[in-house]
Amino acid sequence: MFNKILIANRGEIAVRVIRACREMGIETVAVYSEVDRNALHVQMADEAVCIGPGKAQDSYLNMENIISATVLTGAQAIHPGFGFLSENSKFAQMCKECNITFIGPDAETIDNMGNKSKAREIMLKSGVPVIPGTEGSIETVEDALKEADRIGYPIMVKASAGGGGRGIRIVRAKEELKKAFETAKSEAKVAFGDDTMYIEKFIEKPRHIEFQILADNYGNVIHLCERDCSIQRRNQKVLEEAPSPVMSHELRKKMGEVAVKAAKSVNYKSVGTIEFLVDKNFNFYFMEMNTRIQVEHPITEMITGVDLVKEQIRVSAGEKIEFSQEDIDIKGHSIECRINAENPKKGFRPSPGTITLEHLPGGSGVRIDSSIYQGYTIPPTYDSMVAKLIVHGADRKEAISKMKRSLEEFLIDGIDTNIEFQLNILYNDSFQKGDYDTGFIQSNEDTLF
Ligand code: ADP
Ligand code: ADP
Ligand code: MG
Repeated sequence: MFNKILIANRGEIAVRVIRACREMGIETVAVYSEVDRNALHVQMADEAVCIGPGKAQDSYLNMENIISATVLTGAQAIHPGFGFLSENSKFAQMCKECNITFIGPDAETIDNMGNKSKAREIMLKSGVPVIPGTEGSIETVEDALKEADRIGYPIMVKASAGGGGRGIRIVRAKEELKKAFETAKSEAKVAFGDDTMYIEKFIEKPRHIEFQILADNYGNVIHLCERDCSIQRRNQKVLEEAPSPVMSHELRKKMGEVAVKAAKSVNYKSVGTIEFLVDKNFNFYFMEMNTRIQVEHPITEMITGVDLVKEQIRVSAGEKIEFSQEDIDIKGHSIECRINAENPKKGFRPSPGTITLEHLPGGSGVRIDSSIYQGYTIPPTYDSMVAKLIVHGADRKEAISKMKRSLEEFLIDGIDTNIEFQLNILYNDSFQKGDYDTGFIQSNEDTLF
């Protein structure tokens, strides 16, 4: 096992990884940008190294500085968290060349699965059901028009390098395609430095259901059941729950087997997630694989009792998974609400600033993964997600009531948050019945604000 790990991230996920390390007796090194001097992860780690100015490009994405900090502090491994360098194959390769363990899959796997159009091709060849669409990427508007005619409208234009819901446009008719293609392409160029595009058939009213994978270096691949992430705003997850309210035992078995097959076909190691879209008739299609720990991993931990970050560290250190698929059992129900510093009433405008008062909910079955504290100033520089509220109940009904009372206990003053917005989702009838799809927020706009 490693003696010391450097965490190349910030915010709640950096705190989450530090906690796992501490429990495992592993020393931690935090890295931080100049605007993150007072951040919680800096205070919690055993050591902390400043890696540059606030701009992510100069600090959390600065590979040379992060590698230098690792060598300087004698850390043997780097945990990349999510976002930033977590799906950067160049960085994974660089770690390898410097004899540092990248806690994730190898560079080649990231390359294959991180590129969404390439991943589609690989999955098609492996016999995994994929959303109908282009084979590989498309270059020009003319090609896009041709492909869209073949696939049939409505379609989705998507960036191969996309993530976080960006670089995606729905196109319902031919006339809209040119503009959508061009705006999504330029958004991708700015956000990901890569404007390769592809097209998929738009699935009407789908559910986003994803499977958690855990794989070691010895060919053992298991899944830890599903998460339903259909509550989304602009293709970005807002609330997640596990298990999915619409999942049957048979469908779980079928989808789980496909997810494991998908991971095996790319020789996957580490934790990862296979994302599917499921249509009204319960046909399911591979959408993408995330080759990293995910934001919503805690709900899986709550229902399976497996600590995914510890397992991720263990398999990276070359340990074997000590349980099998048969040992994975679902216990109860879990929900996560992403708490963002933003104002839903003002178009979800980010709301950085100083937290003047904070009271966190607690009690049985309540978990908070956060990076904020009273007196902390949230910089305007990064993602607006500042906390995750996770609950675990004996069943879905109890999880919902636990989440309601926890959101009602949660006090944050000094900044705007989406706590009330989340509460309105919990009170919605269709949500309570489990009857929703990815269009839920859009079609309930009048009651959620
Ligand atoms: P998850 O799939 O874990 O729910 P999200 O899509 O919410 O993840 O993304 C988690 C974080 O990582 C967000 O801050 C998001 O903006 C960022 N992110 C995800 N993918 C990328 C990417 N390809 N490039 C840059 N940032 C990304
Ligand atoms: P990201 O890499 O940003 O996470 P995804 O490919 O996972 O992008 O898509 C994000 C979300 O966009 C999905 O969860 C889903 O709600 C919506 N979406 C993506 N592709 C389609 C599609 N072909 N049909 C309908 N909705 C889609
Ligand atoms: Mg996705």
